[in-house]
Order: sequence, then structure tokens, then C-alpha cells
Amino acid sequence: MPPSREVMPVDILFVGAGPASLAGAYHLLTLVEKHNESVASGGGKEIGPLEIAILEKGSSMGAHAISGAVMDPRALAELIPDFEEAGFPAESPVTSDEVRVLSAKGGFRLPAVPPTMRNDGNYVVSLGKVVSWLAEKVEEKGAFILPEFPGREPIFDGSRLSGIRTTDRGLDKEGNPKGNHQPGADITARVVVLGEGPRGSLTKQLIARHGLDEGTNPPVFATGVKETWRLPEGRIEPGKVIHTMGYPLDSSTYGGGFIYGGADGMAAIGFATGLDYHHPATDPQAELQRFKEHPFVVALLEGGEVVSFGAKTIPEGGWFAMPRPYFDGGMLIGDCGGFLDPSRLKGIHLGMKSGMLAAETILEGLIADDFSESQLAGYRQRIEASWIREEMWKSRNFHQAMDSGLFGGMARIGIQMLLGGRDIRGDRVSAAPGHTHMKRLSEAGGDRARPTVDNERIFDKLTNVFHSGAIHEEDQPVHLVVSDLDICRTRCAEEYGNPCRFFCPADVYEMVEEDGGGLDLRINASNCVHCKTCDVMDPYQIITWLPPEGGGGPSYKNL
Ligand code: SF4
Repeated sequence: MPPSREVMPVDILFVGAGPASLAGAYHLLTLVEKHNESVASGGGKEIGPLEIAILEKGSSMGAHAISGAVMDPRALAELIPDFEEAGFPAESPVTSDEVRVLSAKGGFRLPAVPPTMRNDGNYVVSLGKVVSWLAEKVEEKGAFILPEFPGREPIFDGSRLSGIRTTDRGLDKEGNPKGNHQPGADITARVVVLGEGPRGSLTKQLIARHGLDEGTNPPVFATGVKETWRLPEGRIEPGKVIHTMGYPLDSSTYGGGFIYGGADGMAAIGFATGLDYHHPATDPQAELQRFKEHPFVVALLEGGEVVSFGAKTIPEGGWFAMPRPYFDGGMLIGDCGGFLDPSRLKGIHLGMKSGMLAAETILEGLIADDFSESQLAGYRQRIEASWIREEMWKSRNFHQAMDSGLFGGMARIGIQMLLGGRDIRGDRVSAAPGHTHMKRLSEAGGDRARPTVDNERIFDKLTNVFHSGAIHEEDQPVHLVVSDLDICRTRCAEEYGNPCRFFCPADVYEMVEEDGGGLDLRINASNCVHCKTCDVMDPYQIITWLPPEGGGGPSYKNL
């Protein structure tokens, strides 16, 4: 007899143990404690013990967490006012800020740091460490976290999102059950909060089902690629923050580099490439490697050694690209809801605050015993009335300005700053989906410069994948679903030269000789670091990223 599917009812379900969900669960438990205390003294309806579950696809807390990261502690200070005494694992408070404009061999430091890039009062952090620390706090408070449980599909009760089905374990490549087959569990809940990170696969399904993107700008992303390095003593001051623009990108491609000094000689070196680039051979992993070929970065890394690697997409669309964050039975928080300020390239604080506002909405729903769409609409009102809106409104047209190129874009952003976020093209500037900016080979001209790999300072993709610790069960259905392989062989090869070979930072996609001649797509799914770039940037939009069997993916070390 085939194994039966487990059904696990809980009260509240968060999907994705990132900072948004963890802050949401923690805040909800605090709110319920306070509510019950006030009921005990003043009367009213007490809220009974709650089962709050958090699903996490990674094998451990922080294994899939990656960010730059310079963290604004504003939301954390509201969540845990004594966070420093409570052991907040910052690498260092930010001690200095600089912005450099790089040319191929030189460059200059801006005499003043633009206001949105100043980091006084912020912290250099490893998001992985922050997530592990917060997860402990959340579990001490009474929620439970289920690692190796990726959410695969939404479960509905009529129109209401009533739970999440997790991925099966023990299916072979063709989807047939193996000896260890265990169907995914149905985790049902009174309300489901999605905090699954950028380009969430469940979020995508819910946006389509409920039309949550009606009237919004399309989402726009960048791919951030990062390495951590151990540097010789004294090479970089803890808390030093350097941002760069210019080299290796041409002035029509949006993006830039970052270097952050951490504790104990560690440094984060990263590069973000806007996923609205024009040349189909643009390669975010190669841009990071070329960044490391710049003499300024060469001098910094001399004598150091790489420790880890990772990549993720960054939702940069801003205020107008955010989907409606609530629907019958559920809410969107964090990166999957687009909570990121593109002018500061910061989202951890906004994600945490969104989780906290979702928690306040849940408390109201628990009291009213109602999680319908109209009840959860209170979440959007809270966002509108909070500092999330205040911050994101100022940068509402930031990313759109960048379609004028680096210099034109900087001029427009300067004007936006004077006008409180209004652009010279209007108060609300529209945007096109990032992949539509990609030019055909015949129009793009030339190739992109490639780094010279030595696998000591400049790495190929497979060496970077090794440093990410990515591992998947090999005998399982491929989790990258290409809906029309003929397009890869024919139109895409001709028109764009199969750009998946370039935009994937982990060498997942390869075009290989087929038996009868011609080229065919091979998918090396076990290399995947779950960045979602392919789901975003494929020019035909035929790649869908789905969560693999639980525990698969990167094993990030303090990224
Ligand atoms: Fe990222 Fe897609 Fe490559 Fe996986 S296959 S690493 S999600 S681009």
C-alpha cells in the first residue's frame, strides 16, 4: 500500500524561515502575550495557545539565507528593543562609508556619500547568522520550525488559501515512487503567511490566481552574487562599507559592487547585476569575477582566501511593483511581497516590519475569528500607515530612472531626491518586465568580456558552486521545468544564443551535442543555488523554478 499523506493542522503557518517570517512569528507571540495580559486585568476574549509553524526548505536555519548585508536595525529595535544585549550577532556596526566610481584600471572616490547610501547606525551582518539567532528566539518563544519542508503547492478551501502541500520525498527522475517514498504533508492553517523570498514559487501561483499584480508595475530584479573572504590581518577595518559603480558594467547596464568589512578579518565581496540588461551574454557570476580583476579589489584580496559563495535575486521594482499583499486566507511578506528599498538596496528591515504588520493583522483576525480577504485588507492599511510606505514612497521611481543608463539615471535620481521621489517623467513611471530589455544577438553586437579564471582569486562557476555547498538528491524529478525544449534548440539558440548558459550563476544550463547532430539543453539541476534568476530572466519565460526535495540546495556558511 502506498504511504498515506500526512495532514498537519496548525493555527498559523509561515512559509520560509527568513527574517520576515521569523519577525512575524516572534511579534505575533509577543502580541498574544500582551493581549492575554490585558484580558486578564481588564476582561475580553483570551486567545488560547497557538500552534505557529514555519516551513523552511533548507537543511538548517540560515542554509539558504543570503544578503549583502548592511542591515538597518529599525525593525529589529521595535521587535527586540534590547537586541544588542540579547546577543544580536552583528559582524560590526558600520564604521565608515565610501562610494567609488570605477573605470577598467582606475577610478575615484566620490567626495561625499549620497544620502541614500549612508549607513550611520547600521550594522554589517551575515544574514545567515542573523536568521539562526532569530530562529532560536522564535523557538524559545513557542513557535516551531520545520526544516527540509519546502512548500510545493497551495491548498484551497473554495477561494480561501487553507494550507500548503510540501514536496514529496523519494521520487525518482521520472516521478515514480522509490522505496523511501513519502508524499508531502498537507499543513493546513487558519491563515498562511508567505515569506518565501524573491520570486517565490507559491507566491507566483497566488499572484496569478488572485490577480494580485493588477495595476502594478511588473516586478524587476537584480541578481546579487557574493563571496566571503578571509583577509590578512588589518587589511579591512570591521564595519567598513564600500559601494562601487561603473566597471565592469557598461553605462547602459544597471548594477554595482560592494565590499563590507566583517569580524575576524572576514569580508563580503559582491556584485549585483540588474536583470533588465540588454546583452544576452551578460553573466552576473562573471561580472563579480571581473570586479575582482580591478586593481582596487586585487589589492584588497591579495593573500586572502575565499570561504563561501552564494547568489540570489533582489526584488528592485519598488513601491509600484509590489503585488497586493493580502487575499482570502493569506498574506505576502518580505522579498516575495517586494519589500525592498531600491535606492538603499536594503530589504531586511522592511521585510521584518512587513512580518510584524502581518502579525498585527493576524491578532485582529484571531480576535474576530476571521481571516477573509476583507479582514486581511487591514494589512495593507497598516503598511500604508507605517514607515514602510514613508521610506519606499521616496524611492518609488528609482529603478525606473535607470533605464536612462548610469549617468542619465543618476541625474534623474538627483531630481527625484529634490522632488520627494517624483520623476521628471511623472509621479508614477511605468516599467517593462526585465527580460523584455534583452536584445537579440543580431542587435546586441560583440560579446561580453570574460574573466581570466585561475580558481584562486577568479573562479569558474563550478568552483563557486563548490563553495556554496550546494547539494541535491540526484535521482529526483528536475526542479527546473522548461515547458518547451524545442524553443531552446531552435528559436532561443538563434535569437539569443541560449542566455540561460550565462545568466545562471551555477552552470545549471548547458547546450550539448545531441546524437543526431544539433544542440540540446542539459539541466545540471544539482548545481542549483536557488537564486531564481532563470525564472525571471528567460526571454521566453518558459523556465519555472520549483522547490526540490527538502534539504536540497545550497549550504551557505554565514552568507
Ligand atoms: Fe539560479 Fe536558476 Fe541557476 Fe538555479 S538554475 S542557480 S535558480 S539561475
